[in-house]
Amino acid sequence: MLNADLPWLQMPLADALARARSHALLVQGPAGVGQLELAVKLAQSWLCEAGDGAQPACGLCASCRLFASGTHPDFQLLIPEALDASARESLGLPFEEPDAPKAGKAKPSREIKVDAVRNLLAFAQATSARGRAKVAVIFPAEALNGVAANALLKTLEEPAGLLRFALASHDSAGLLPTIRSRCQPVPLPLPERNVALGWLAGKGLPDAGGLLDATGGRPQQALEWANAGLTDAAWQAIPKRVVRGEAAALSDWAPPRAIDALQRLCHDLVRRAHGQPGQFFATASLPSPRRAAPLLAWDAELRRAARHAEHPLNSGLLIEALVAQARSAIGASAR
Ligand SMILES: [Zn+2]
Repeated sequence: MLNADLPWLQMPLADALARARSHALLVQGPAGVGQLELAVKLAQSWLCEAGDGAQPACGLCASCRLFASGTHPDFQLLIPEALDASARESLGLPFEEPDAPKAGKAKPSREIKVDAVRNLLAFAQATSARGRAKVAVIFPAEALNGVAANALLKTLEEPAGLLRFALASHDSAGLLPTIRSRCQPVPLPLPERNVALGWLAGKGLPDAGGLLDATGGRPQQALEWANAGLTDAAWQAIPKRVVRGEAAALSDWAPPRAIDALQRLCHDLVRRAHGQPGQFFATASLPSPRRAAPLLAWDAELRRAARHAEHPLNSGLLIEALVAQARSAIGASAR
């Protein structure tokens, strides 16, 4: 069963279908709000045999049923190996369990490589099996490495016959300008708060306001964090625990995630220093800094750490050092 119907996508989907003037659309906006789902719904709608492709998919016709079972012959989904199984699983499409990591075996790639694009081009060459369209979804488009992007350019510019593309990106600045310029942009903003909260409640998270704020208003990310064991109480406790120098506040997380949490804390403390409420944390959970300067210096340190966080030699030591650094910056900002 296809699982791509997020309530806040209805308007952007209808809008994008009605306004589509190009054979290639680029869904862009923040991650964690359903970009992939919107691109997939565009594909299903273009393939739907009940309308003319300018309305959302009917969900009932033969094409829609094939699409929902993951066996539509005119549909291809291009996703980096590292994300493929989890993305298909969350969409309700068939997927193969990834192999358990073996020593000496390369980790699944986070890039979309040229081989995958060549397969896509072969798919693009063949005639449409059902005669309606052929659609390729590429997610996230910024994962196309340079060679892969270049291999795609010509087809993206002059697609054969009935071929259409739906790309999705949460870092469109990271895309090659030549890719970006060949696509019609489809902005996907953050959903309205009450719609996001209603959806989270339907997923078994009735009081998800704090977690939704923690993610900056991205409901899919809030759900992911909750499923990974994060509670609102644990999130709100982070500032005080960091001030006490407790590395355990963050030690359950991989370094990039821990750095991200500290960046959110730093951002909120700068806001507090300027008399504004917290954005990611509840204001009551935050200390009250008097000076922003030490926080801005800390922010620069965090950005440097984020660039090197993927392969730390020892993540436990790194997180201890980060928490010590945070503690001293927050201490300095209070004086
Ligand atoms: Zn249909």
